[in-house]
Amino acid sequence: MYGFNGKVLFVDLTTGSIKEESLPEKTYRQFVGGQGLGARILYGHMKPKADPLGPDNMIGFVTGLLTGFNVHGARFQIVAKSPVTGGWGDANIGGSFAAELKGAGYDGVFFTGISPKPVYLFLDEGKAELRDASAIWGSDTVMTESGIRDELGDKRIKVTCIGPAGEKQSLLAAIIHEGCAAARDGLASVMGSKRLKAVAARGNKKAPLAQPEQFSTLRKQYLQSVKETDHPFVPMFKQWGTCSFVSPHVTSGGSPVKNFQLHGEESFPTHGKLNGDEVTKYQVKKHGCLGCPMGCKGWLKVEDSPYGVIEGTKPEYETLIMMGSNCLIDDVVSIIKANDLCNRYGLDTIGVGASIAFAMECWERGVISEKDTDGIKLNWGDAEAMVKMVEKIGKREGFGAVLADGPQKAASRLGQGSEEWAIHTAGTSLPAHDPRQKLGHAWGYVCDPSPSRHTCSTFIQWHAMGAPFWSADIIPQSDLTDAGAGASVWALCSDLERLWWAAGLCEFGICPDSMPLIELITAATGWDFTLEEGLKAGRRIQTLRQAFNIREGVSTDGWRLPKRLEAAMPDGPAKDTKLDFKAMKENGYRALGWDPKTGKPLDSSLEGLELKELVGTYS
Ligand code: SF4
Repeated sequence: MYGFNGKVLFVDLTTGSIKEESLPEKTYRQFVGGQGLGARILYGHMKPKADPLGPDNMIGFVTGLLTGFNVHGARFQIVAKSPVTGGWGDANIGGSFAAELKGAGYDGVFFTGISPKPVYLFLDEGKAELRDASAIWGSDTVMTESGIRDELGDKRIKVTCIGPAGEKQSLLAAIIHEGCAAARDGLASVMGSKRLKAVAARGNKKAPLAQPEQFSTLRKQYLQSVKETDHPFVPMFKQWGTCSFVSPHVTSGGSPVKNFQLHGEESFPTHGKLNGDEVTKYQVKKHGCLGCPMGCKGWLKVEDSPYGVIEGTKPEYETLIMMGSNCLIDDVVSIIKANDLCNRYGLDTIGVGASIAFAMECWERGVISEKDTDGIKLNWGDAEAMVKMVEKIGKREGFGAVLADGPQKAASRLGQGSEEWAIHTAGTSLPAHDPRQKLGHAWGYVCDPSPSRHTCSTFIQWHAMGAPFWSADIIPQSDLTDAGAGASVWALCSDLERLWWAAGLCEFGICPDSMPLIELITAATGWDFTLEEGLKAGRRIQTLRQAFNIREGVSTDGWRLPKRLEAAMPDGPAKDTKLDFKAMKENGYRALGWDPKTGKPLDSSLEGLELKELVGTYS
């Protein structure tokens, strides 16, 4: 087999047993890699109805087809049953870990059971060993990564890990690697429940390529095209990264302000304090994920701040908005500090920002006071209070424990009508994109098997913005506010996006508009792959994610956006926009071949996708 190692690893943490399993080439061709392969393995190996924080849940770290070949980044997917939604969970990270994992000889590693003591797995050139992590249990993620490298005596070893928040099974916890986070769906709490502190990997093995010369030519052509492209986003990514999107998105009305109550420039006129240069003026080193021709990331150092010296990674757009405009905070240094705390404790900055905005609204409305919040005054715009509360969430102490599982759980703990101000779907905090202005995300929020995730609707959102991107030419122009016409656009974009993620590429690689993805897959594997086959694989992956939800008993029919967002947009450039999310979901499901009411994939759809074996596996 070409392009892959052809095998994955299964680790039972209860018994300590480690087993290799070879996978047939047909499975790779059908599911491509990443979350596709992860979905196939979870559906086949995880006990149905497993407790998400119990021994039967399975968590997998899965590389993509193009991981390790330096095309555009090297992402890996983490998959498990989500303790947030009770259904399908996935999240991904860039950096350099994925290439080492694949280089160690495995396409993925899957864990079940609960270890009697804290452990980490070390994958080393075809060998796998569970090692005692008792000494680093309780350490932050920076200390964990360096501590494992020191113990193993090799600075090149790559580590992905949880911090104290994951150990305490906070549903806001994130899995961290080199300051990047796999943050959504609560997957770090699954690691914490298993006492799995980290996975470390070292490996130089290159999976063989079917047509190495052709692959090399295609790769070089792509890298050259990134240098020469006139796509407007590419220089923005190169110079600033996503922090350059703050002002444009606040101005367009797409960014939430004051817990999604306000929108537009008038509601947050100081947005420029969080944009582009205001962040990168603290940058001491630019960097990027392994094998990336754009390099959108950076290391920051703030020498003089109320918090002392701050050193950490550059906050993303999502962080700057969720901890910024959504909390009426325009103090960039405090957000840099909060971002660094989240990385060290291992926390999702989106969920943390959403939880603090929710708490600020509770404070304003008199539901909580200083006696509830450990003396911290949670007034809108109070940056130091926000930083203090991040620390409490990370430690899961005091009022931080109330917020540590996100706004939905916090509202159920506080009551008094606060449920109305908890901005989430099925427990997942909405990211920094109001769907009434960002119509592409609206479709993803309601139709994807992992709800309210901006990374599940990037393709359709770029289509909505009219930005050129890979394969945009095959997508019909339709009015996305039209719940009927928009559905076919959603389905096609969803197929493309699943294929892209399964290939192990960074989603920002779609913007140079020149990725020879199908040709690269052919050159890597030797398959006579076509776009049509790739789209079918994308639909298969999406359908399996949804089938997982249904088998686990999740009622996706009950997934709703918050009432605040179901109402017409109150202000900003998209004022008065009101979407019929129910009709969008029904039509989106229908377009994917699922029952429009229940979301169950139809038997005929399963058969058409060669998933006949799933027929009858859920009721
Ligand atoms: S564009 Fe940014 S996130 Fe994507 S691979 Fe490059 S450095 Fe990583």
